[in-house]
Amino acid sequence: MMIKQSKIDTSILIVDDEPNIRNSIHEFIGMAGYKSFKASSAEEALEILKKNAIYVVITDIRLPGMSGLELTDLIKNSYDTDVIVITGYVGDYSYEEAINKGASDFVSKPIRFEELLLRLRRVLKERQIAKERTLMLKKLQELAITDGLTTLYNSRYFYKQLDSEVDRSKRYNHPLTLLFMDIDYFKHYNDTYGHMEGDKVLARFGKVIKSCLRKMDTAYRYGGEEFTVILPETSRDEVMTVAERIKDAIKNEKFSPQSGESISMTISIGVAQYCPGERISTFVQRADKAMYLSKQRGRNQISTIFSDECSETTDS
Ligand code: GH3
Ligand code: MG
Ligand code: MG
Repeated sequence: MMIKQSKIDTSILIVDDEPNIRNSIHEFIGMAGYKSFKASSAEEALEILKKNAIYVVITDIRLPGMSGLELTDLIKNSYDTDVIVITGYVGDYSYEEAINKGASDFVSKPIRFEELLLRLRRVLKERQIAKERTLMLKKLQELAITDGLTTLYNSRYFYKQLDSEVDRSKRYNHPLTLLFMDIDYFKHYNDTYGHMEGDKVLARFGKVIKSCLRKMDTAYRYGGEEFTVILPETSRDEVMTVAERIKDAIKNEKFSPQSGESISMTISIGVAQYCPGERISTFVQRADKAMYLSKQRGRNQISTIFSDECSETTDS
């Protein structure tokens, strides 16, 4: 995986109180193709950092006011920026001290520009590798919780999320609702048109379900042709509206598994609202049972099963 990083938008900030040094580094870095800013003190550098995305700061250690090491410390605490420190007094500050503050590298005066450039390039390269690694990790984490066919979340993530939503619901005493859905007569569709056509239905229904949800709701492919939705902080009426919207949107989707045909499918939905104190497995079973009730009642329907303990409160 490559992240394109052009030199021209790679901003470097040079901090040195000696104008000659500051200007020569600026010029040299500019000739190497990088865009750079200049500051004569740590305080000025911090102002520039606030307003610009800086990749690397090259700072002298000895500065009037705040020192280069203090600046490094502040930068490492607040910005995703690398720091190369420069010192004129070898022995004054140790390499360890600079590195411990979070500096990525260290050069001493008199500056040899070629060496500084090599060090800068190495820091930039390592930075890019770290960025790519983070991005890759994020992608992998996403993949681990996503169902490839429908791009909805998978069932492993469903249980994880349900766990934390149940916790939240108990803590804040907010309602929490679950939808269980199963496509009607899907085996027949598969048997008639083939598994590949069946997969197309699943993928499209994943999109349809997502499009019917509000921002805080999350949809999952629970199993083969079964979907779930977790709806936090939702009243019964709102849930029924969402469930109706999904049921209708599914029915309105048209498929042409064979030319000239236009087929629509239906889905059976079960709704359950969390009863405080209820076990998660019981809650899930209730939503599942409600879905089966919809099947028994003839499919393409929405059913609810109330918890015995909460029937009075949820029914009212
Ligand atoms: P019902 O209305 O009672 O739900 O009937 P049904 O035929 O949908 O239910 P059943 O559980 O008998 O069949 C589910 C079918 O879903 C079986 C299988 O062919 C199909 N299926 C499950 N996972 C996948 C998948 O990933 N891709 C495809 N194409 N089909 C799948
Ligand atoms: Mg099924
Ligand atoms: Mg089914």
